[in-house]
Parts: sequence; C-alpha cells; structure tokens
Amino acid sequence: SWLQTIVENKQLMFDHQSITYDIHYKEKDKILWIDKERMAQVINNLLENSLRYTGPGGRISLSVYTEDHFDVIEVKDTGIGIPEEDLPYIWDRFYRVDKSRTSKSGGSGLGLAIVKEIITLHGGHIEVDSKVGQGTTFKIYLKPVSSEASE
Ligand code: ATP
Ligand code: MG
Repeated sequence: SWLQTIVENKQLMFDHQSITYDIHYKEKDKILWIDKERMAQVINNLLENSLRYTGPGGRISLSVYTEDHFDVIEVKDTGIGIPEEDLPYIWDRFYRVDKSRTSKSGGSGLGLAIVKEIITLHGGHIEVDSKVGQGTTFKIYLKPVSSEASE
C-alpha cells in the first residue's frame, strides 16, 4: 500500500531516533487515491512533525479508518505535546510553539498551514488533541468518495 511506502521512506529517520511505528489501515485506503499526491504531502507533513517533536523511544502511529461516515486519517505520537494556549495558532503560517525548544530542529512553521489548506480544499477538516508531555494526535476527516470515482 502507498501508506506503507510513505512510512517506509522515513525508515531511516525512525531508526535513527529509535522511534517505533505502527500502521493501521484496511482496504479503505483506496478512498484517498483521489488526490494521492496531496494526501501523501499531508501525511508526510504530519509524520515529519511527529518525528521532530518525539524523542527516542517514542511511538508514532498512522491509521486510516471510518468513523461516523467520515474517512479518517490519524497520526498519533507520544512526543512533547503542544500547550493548550498554543493550539489555536498552530495552523497559522510561520507560527511555531516556543521557538527556543524548536530552533535547533529547523522548520519554518508552514507545515500545518499547508496541511489545513489541502484538507479544506478537499472539503474535509482536521482536529488536534494534545497534552504536554504525553503526545499529540491529529485527525483528518474526509467525506468518503465512491469507489468508482477513485478507480
Ligand atoms: P515546518 O513544518 O514548516 O518545517 P514546523 O514543523 O515548525 O515547520 P508546523 O508543521 O506548521 O511547523 O507546526 C507548527 C508548530 O506546531 C510546530 O512548530 C510545533 O511547535 C507544533 N507541533 C506541530 N506538530 C507537533 C507535534 N506532533 N508534537 C508537538 N508539537 C507539534
Ligand atoms: Mg512541520
């Protein structure tokens, strides 16, 4: 599956940081083929964030499943988390939480702005749930497209 490929392309980074990963999906990942390139970009941005903000021994999972008639893409990590007061702003261009903690790890603060734009253009929405010191979960909700349309 192309989801597997996206994660395997990051194998070196996972190994280098001693981070383990799981992937959960069913045949349903077909539904995302409608704009595979853009969805790959979205998933890559989220995985790159998780890798950047999760320390050694952490865990990252990528799941695709159905919930309440939506197709959901979920990226979950056991990283440093995002303070509640910053959560409303993480989607803004160039916004980065506490520049001191992240300055050494690069990044310009554009990733999530791009993710949100792509998802919005696809008629979907994205939610975040995060706890400092525990981890972060991003969930993308997309309206399912019929399998004929995605073939
Ligand atoms: P870029 O994506 O342009 O390389 P970036 O990763 O800093 O830079 P975004 O992807 O837009 O920018 O994320 C914005 C900010 O949200 C990050 O700087 C970071 O502080 C916080 N953040 C995003 N994802 C996570 C995560 N999985 N865990 C902890 N903090 C996160
Ligand atoms: Mg980023």
